[in-house]
Amino acid sequence: MTTTREFRIAVFPGDGIGLEITGPCIAVIDRALERVGGLKLGYEHLPAGAGAYVELGTALPDSSVAAARAADAILLAAAGLPEIRYPDGTEIAPQIELRAILDLYAGIRPVRSIPGVPAPLADPLGSRLDFVIVRESTEGLFVSHRNGVVRDDREAEDRLLITRKGTERVVDAAMHIARTRKARGGRGHVTCVDKANVFASFAFFRKVFDERAAENADLTVDRIYVDASTLEFVGRPWRFDVIVTENMFGDILSDLGASLIGGMGFAPSADIGDDHAVFQPCHGTAPDIAGQGKANPTAMFLSGAMMLEWLAERHDEPRAEEAAALIRAAVDEAFAGGLRTWEIGGQSGVREVTEAVTSRLRTVA
Ligand code: ATP
Ligand code: MG
Repeated sequence: MTTTREFRIAVFPGDGIGLEITGPCIAVIDRALERVGGLKLGYEHLPAGAGAYVELGTALPDSSVAAARAADAILLAAAGLPEIRYPDGTEIAPQIELRAILDLYAGIRPVRSIPGVPAPLADPLGSRLDFVIVRESTEGLFVSHRNGVVRDDREAEDRLLITRKGTERVVDAAMHIARTRKARGGRGHVTCVDKANVFASFAFFRKVFDERAAENADLTVDRIYVDASTLEFVGRPWRFDVIVTENMFGDILSDLGASLIGGMGFAPSADIGDDHAVFQPCHGTAPDIAGQGKANPTAMFLSGAMMLEWLAERHDEPRAEEAAALIRAAVDEAFAGGLRTWEIGGQSGVREVTEAVTSRLRTVA
């Protein structure tokens, strides 16, 4: 008798288009797992976000955090709405709180072009984009989040913090990703993006990067100032393999990366720590298109694939890896076959994209 292995997933549908893309993502994951066999996910839906704040008086209930901690992985769609805020005027963003609570220090943002999705830039030599941004997610300029000060309406001040521990662990995560990619035919190259020529904090970031690079001699590295990196993002982004950078720079470069592959609806992400990980699309709740069925669920599907890949590595479970590869292949095939979402000038929304991907999951190799 064969036994089916099961992992438990904490699911946060959140708000806005998050509510529309969660079910389809689960359907896609389950279809891929059916193909592979022997592996199953159990989902627990949990409240968090603006809706939870209105209904329950808290944007991130303790019970949701406890369930997320107990789960094998966390899948989050998108949370927060511009018109519903905390009394002090700040935005409701349980995803940012989860990063702090679960110490999710590495934000993984793959920039991988999908064949058939029009990209604003094309390599004259025809190479597809396939690189990964690793964003430090617990410190940098974001230590100032809700801690910045405005004095007498005259001046404002924020703080930027780089620690040895924070830098070492995120650089190690980037090196690990580069090594994994190298084993699959990648270049094994890590680029440090900083502003070491102007700030003590970034000079320190680069120093720690160099120390770790010396201990990972099987990989090649380079270092680049953030301003020059934007030139490279637009001029020849195909030169990147794995990028590691500070929180704020990573925030900005991730959106730039998303635009290179067709828009926010195509950009998945993972926030990873030593014990927990949250998988969610890079985009927000898109209130401008919520409720209209126009959202592109692809980023959510690809985030689900990243979750399967992470489970595979963590639990030595090749079937999860296989399911992840099937989802990516089905997405690629669907768009190569002419699927066009609203944001790229087409007319396909959640339902059409979900149907196109799930139907290909039956046949894709
Ligand atoms: P956040 O502060 O949560 O990052 P944001 O203000 O950056 O949110 P998003 O919700 O990411 O905004 O939306 C930015 C733009 O991208 C909006 O015009 C939105 O409609 C569009 N967009 C975001 N996600 C998608 C998607 N999945 N499909 C189609 N369009 C999207
Ligand atoms: Mg945004």
